[in-house]
Amino acid sequence: MSAAIPDVTLNNGVKMPILGFGVFQVPGEQTEQVVTDALAAGYRSLDTAASYGNEEAVGRAIAKSGIPRDQLFITTKLWIQHTGEDTARREFDKSLRNLGLDYLDLYLIHQPLGDYYSSWHAMQKLYAEGLIKAIGVSNFYPDRLVDLIQHNDITPAVNQIETHPFFQRADYQPLLREHGVQIESWGPFAEGRNDLFTNPTLTEIGEAHGKSVAQVVLRWLIQRDVVVIPKSVRPDRMAENLDVFDFELTDDEITRIAALDTGVSAFFDHRDPAMVTWLGGRRVD
Ligand code: NDP
Repeated sequence: MSAAIPDVTLNNGVKMPILGFGVFQVPGEQTEQVVTDALAAGYRSLDTAASYGNEEAVGRAIAKSGIPRDQLFITTKLWIQHTGEDTARREFDKSLRNLGLDYLDLYLIHQPLGDYYSSWHAMQKLYAEGLIKAIGVSNFYPDRLVDLIQHNDITPAVNQIETHPFFQRADYQPLLREHGVQIESWGPFAEGRNDLFTNPTLTEIGEAHGKSVAQVVLRWLIQRDVVVIPKSVRPDRMAENLDVFDFELTDDEITRIAALDTGVSAFFDHRDPAMVTWLGGRRVD
């Protein structure tokens, strides 16, 4: 895919960069410029979602960049409001139009909520028609994932889940591996929660390598074969977050990072009924 950024190979043979760029919470009016900067910095994989409300701005930056389509890896996601077979297909068409593309590299079910089995049926067909190179899910806890796999033809290529030093998912990764589902981290920096960027252990490890905390975290995830999509609106940090392929963490450092795991989300639990109600009621355009 890109000379500088290594790929992982998904369960259908499709290659995906192990490091990409996320655009959640990038302010609407800034998104086109931010994505333009990210592409100029060297990112080739972009992660958006219908619910982020910025697919069109991402699309404009892609078009403006002039980068050949086959050098890009574009992911978007289907929101809960739009689950169901016909609706999912219609929303897929809309996302594709918003992005100005004629195929997607990866399409994800954003949440394991609503009638997502019907959405999956639609996505299997879109995949068979060649309109999506790989289909996957997001925020699926192990029980939901295994159930989806057991009752459908296609196993998701990816599960994009909260994964960072305070919620490491090391207990989930073997099951994902067993089923051939690539783990992808959202919130690699826990969005800075728990004072991640000044954490003493991560700071010390960074100092030993002449690297920042952000770089240590990304390197640690990559060494665990986790796909990462850090977000930043700042070009200096975009470059910093790409510069993680010239050092290696030792076993001892990895053990020290393992001790930071709290085993619980730094945000919320997708299985909490109050959260299920809130997410299920969220409307996007
Ligand atoms: P991240 O963990 O990537 O954290 C982003 C925050 O870290 C921003 O405040 C950014 O600030 C700051 N930051 C970035 N780089 C550095 C650096 N080198 N040094 C210091 N601070 C830094 O959070 P996200 O939630 O954005 O997760 C990444 C992506 O994952 C999203 O953009 C989205 O694509 C995806 N995601 C998916 C979800 C899902 O449900 N599937 C949920 C949440 C995210 P600044 O921008 O000012 O530099």
